[in-house]
Amino acid sequence: MSELVSMEKLVSLCKRRGFIFQSSEIYGGINGFWDYGPYGTTLKRAIENLWWKEMVVSREDVEGLDSTVICNPMVWKASGHLEKFGDLMTDCRDCKARHRVDQMEDPSLCPNCGSKNLTEPREFNLMMKTYVGPISDEDHAAYLRAETCQPIFVNFHNVRIASRQKLPFGIAQVGKAFRNEINPRNFTFRSREFSQMEMEYFCADEEAMEWFEYWKEQRTKYYYDYLNFSDETLRIHKHDELAHYAKAAVDIEYQFPFGWGELEGIHHRGTWDMSRHQQYSGENLEYFDQKNKSKFIPTVIETSVGLDRTTLAVLCNAYDEDTAETQKIGKAEDVRVVMRLPFKVAPVQAAVLPLSKKLSEKAEGVYNDIKKQFRSEFDITGSIGKRYRRQDEIGTPYCITVDFDTIEDDTVTVRDRDSMKQDRVSAGKLINYLNDQVK
Ligand code: ATP
Repeated sequence: MSELVSMEKLVSLCKRRGFIFQSSEIYGGINGFWDYGPYGTTLKRAIENLWWKEMVVSREDVEGLDSTVICNPMVWKASGHLEKFGDLMTDCRDCKARHRVDQMEDPSLCPNCGSKNLTEPREFNLMMKTYVGPISDEDHAAYLRAETCQPIFVNFHNVRIASRQKLPFGIAQVGKAFRNEINPRNFTFRSREFSQMEMEYFCADEEAMEWFEYWKEQRTKYYYDYLNFSDETLRIHKHDELAHYAKAAVDIEYQFPFGWGELEGIHHRGTWDMSRHQQYSGENLEYFDQKNKSKFIPTVIETSVGLDRTTLAVLCNAYDEDTAETQKIGKAEDVRVVMRLPFKVAPVQAAVLPLSKKLSEKAEGVYNDIKKQFRSEFDITGSIGKRYRRQDEIGTPYCITVDFDTIEDDTVTVRDRDSMKQDRVSAGKLINYLNDQVK
């Protein structure tokens, strides 16, 4: 993470440039809910696509699923969420602030006002409740899923039979999850509605530890290779305390401006989930291994990523400021805010900027060519300096300037966002040029 980024600066840039807005802003917002603007939507989708490609498309042993947000409530009974999925909370009787006990440095003092006048800690269930059908009573109560993995367990045999997979294999899903967090905070980091990208890998118990190590390695590598995270900003945190059913668990954490925070959990869940669903549904969820002629409940290794948290980490990681002396814009000490987003996820990969309105026809031709291959934008509004600044804040890796020489010799200037180096390139070879840079 750039040391220059504070959450305040990032939140302001996200709003200004259309990455992330407060939900229902004109009504004063709603705590813990966020909307993605035009560039945020594209960035988030690009990160999701990268994950999907890596985890599903490029693999023969992982299948996709897109399940509903609302399931039969028995799913959540079996998973244990209805009985126990929550945090201990306490209220300050003086300032009325509400806190999660596990997040308080000193659980006897209100972190807001320092008062000791706190209520007894009590359990708070994070499941969001709704009613299905016209009658709003307990018989019609249902829950918005708190994680995307439970419908995966429930669909194990459906997916296995349809895809003709044999163990070991995985099922992946991306989608919304809802948690009635007591204290949503740190921008999108802790939201009440968020997206998860989860993959459940089903295997025989004796192989499970090996798969756990394999997925830990794969998933860590992903952050370095695709999202440009470094050793300073990424760490693996091993759980000392495990859930009663878990055999091993690690978190992949990113150093946000507010401290280390979990991006992804990799968990050896044993046979807990599958056994519980077998018990509560009365259906046989065993797997028959034809080779060994044995029947068993599969063991599960899970990789569970927060899409919003990853997007936030990518934004924090990209934020940079430099002195724009070389840019000759405004004063010499002017600060250039630049989002050094990786090319693969940048919402705009190349922007075409004609120097004058008289060049728009030529520039549109260039734009129409490159937009077939790259996420591109055409911008003719304002001075060229301001347009560069705007693209720098959006994180556009390449700006292509069309000037009067372009009409003469069919060449354009390509400006590299990070080095600010400018190359003169033949318009016809632009796509090759950009492809080479990306490689
Ligand atoms: P935390 O301890 O931060 O509450 P968790 O351990 O409960 O997270 P999991 O249940 O393992 O999280 O969920 C998997 C992933 O989903 C997390 O690593 C995180 O990226 C994401 N996630 C969980 N809760 C939230 C939330 N309230 N807002 C945004 N993302 C979340």
